Amino acid sequence: MPMDEKPSKNEDEYFGKKNLEIIHEMRLKLDAERRKTERKAHHNKCPRCGADLKEQHAEQVRIDECPECGGIWLDKGELDQLRRVNRSRGVSGGVLGSLFRRG
Ligand SMILES: [Zn+2]
Repeated sequence: MPMDEKPSKNEDEYFGKKNLEIIHEMRLKLDAERRKTERKAHHNKCPRCGADLKEQHAEQVRIDECPECGGIWLDKGELDQLRRVNRSRGVSGGVLGSLFRRG
């Protein structure tokens, strides 16, 4: 009775392919993890100098100000809020006026 020989070349190809798939999956997982960690590390940091942003209130609008470089960052919709307040009060009485009066 002949030995049941496995086609070793095909087997190598099969496992080689499988390994590539596993490596690819691992790489995707690692990339996703790295992106998550990077985003977390940048959360609430100044995009210009990397310092921790401090929350400030200008009238009823919450803004993020950098104590290092003085940059001011607005979340979605906050610029429109600032515009509305400024329109209703005039520039000197509005949010921009209150920013200039500080310090
Ligand atoms: Zn900064």
